[in-house]
Amino acid sequence: MEFIKEEYIQSLIEDKGLNDQSYQREIIEKAKNAKGLSLKESAALLNIEDRETLEELFHTAKEVKEKIYGNRLVLFAPLYITNICVNNCLYCAFRRDNKELKRKTLTLDEIREETEFLVKQGHKRILLVAGEHPKKPGLDFVGKAIDTMYKVHINGGNIRRINVNVAPLTVDEFKTLKSFGIGTYQCFQETYHYETYMKMHPDGPKRDFAWRLYSMDRALQAGIDDVGIGVLFGLTDYKFETLAMLSHAFNLDEKYGIGPHTISVPRLEPALNAPVSEKPPFAVDDLSFKKLVAVIRLAVPYTGIILSTRERPELRRELFNLGVSQISAGSRTSPGAYKESQESLEEHQMEQFQLGDHRSLDEVVRDCCQLGYLPSFCTACYRSSRTGDRFMELAKTGNIGKLCSPNAISTFKEYILEYASEETKKVALEFLLNEIEKLEEPTKNKTLKMVERVDAGERDVFF
Ligand code: SAM
Ligand code: SF4
Repeated sequence: MEFIKEEYIQSLIEDKGLNDQSYQREIIEKAKNAKGLSLKESAALLNIEDRETLEELFHTAKEVKEKIYGNRLVLFAPLYITNICVNNCLYCAFRRDNKELKRKTLTLDEIREETEFLVKQGHKRILLVAGEHPKKPGLDFVGKAIDTMYKVHINGGNIRRINVNVAPLTVDEFKTLKSFGIGTYQCFQETYHYETYMKMHPDGPKRDFAWRLYSMDRALQAGIDDVGIGVLFGLTDYKFETLAMLSHAFNLDEKYGIGPHTISVPRLEPALNAPVSEKPPFAVDDLSFKKLVAVIRLAVPYTGIILSTRERPELRRELFNLGVSQISAGSRTSPGAYKESQESLEEHQMEQFQLGDHRSLDEVVRDCCQLGYLPSFCTACYRSSRTGDRFMELAKTGNIGKLCSPNAISTFKEYILEYASEETKKVALEFLLNEIEKLEEPTKNKTLKMVERVDAGERDVFF
């Protein structure tokens, strides 16, 4: 594919000159200005092996993350509407040949119930996820599902942004998807390595590598402002995947003036009857995983990095430091699982893969506060049409932070008042006061006024 230059990427990985520690340190120094890195520079950082230079890399990633995102972490939950799928991806439990999987497509009533569960937990963002099937459930149904989710209102709580992770569409279909009022359209290439891709996707529409690769182009051409890319780490060499994914991001930026809004970094997890998931051919160890997250943070400083509950809590904590800006919490990966919940056997027979973090949203929120991270339920940018290039413009001029902190604080106050357990409340209230104290005037005063409105009973306060 024209912008994924396999041979060039391979030559960068093998280039001994890029192992030079003084060159690597020079790049780390340069990365501090948060202007991003070239592919070659990113390759040099991925080649770092010695402990000391790695620590410098991690330290700089933390610095850059704090400069752009502060200590905020955006929280969301996935909602699976169907596990029916015509594809046969060797790593996924939803694959067509998995006869043991209990297949289910939620009805609109069930989608409403699942959404009610999430709203009652305090969630404001949903990631709608589905298997691929030409008719079941079909794009119309996705529209009805989104409409159903947005309509749930419980005591001032509601879902305010719905991102979507479904199979690639045509430009016209993307226009329809946009008309449903979605936030980000996400689609992961899984692997950018053509030969590996063909092995992992033996049949079904997903076998078309180029159709998937250019899905972001079609989404952007259809007017969807925010798109999210990703790799399923473990299928081939992580250095190759990281560099290829960065090539993709750079290419979108060159062509459309905006790069991806988010990058997701799922690692392959065990999944029922998914042969490749049992023993990932290129398993990524924790240290390499931390390194690649840090490199992505420095290479594309303004792109959000999403981490899911696939990872264990201990590692998730470390990754927040290195550049992750959005996390899922209290997740279930099978259709209808929130309601059935409580880890029933049936749920495991329907889920897409096993989770590493089983904690509830309340526990994750408390943990974030204890670690010094501000959980954000803010959706203001999306609803004030600060998406796509308008968002990037604000972010790159350093102005997004002035909006984000007050909005994160006011939405978090709403969370504490309405949804937090007593234990979390204690930790969170003290943490929030500290956060307000840290602000400078006039932002501090503005924030205090917003929080007062929330205390007085107003909901969804943002600017
Ligand atoms: N069916 C659509 C597709 O494949 O693009 C969208 C939803 S699919 C359920 C969402 C993502 O789950 C996939 O893109 C893949 O990266 C991830 N996934 C599949 N199997 C996985 C596994 N065993 N471990 C971790 N993530 C997995
Ligand atoms: Fe289907 Fe997506 Fe799973 Fe592949 S990854 S089997 S397309 S749900």
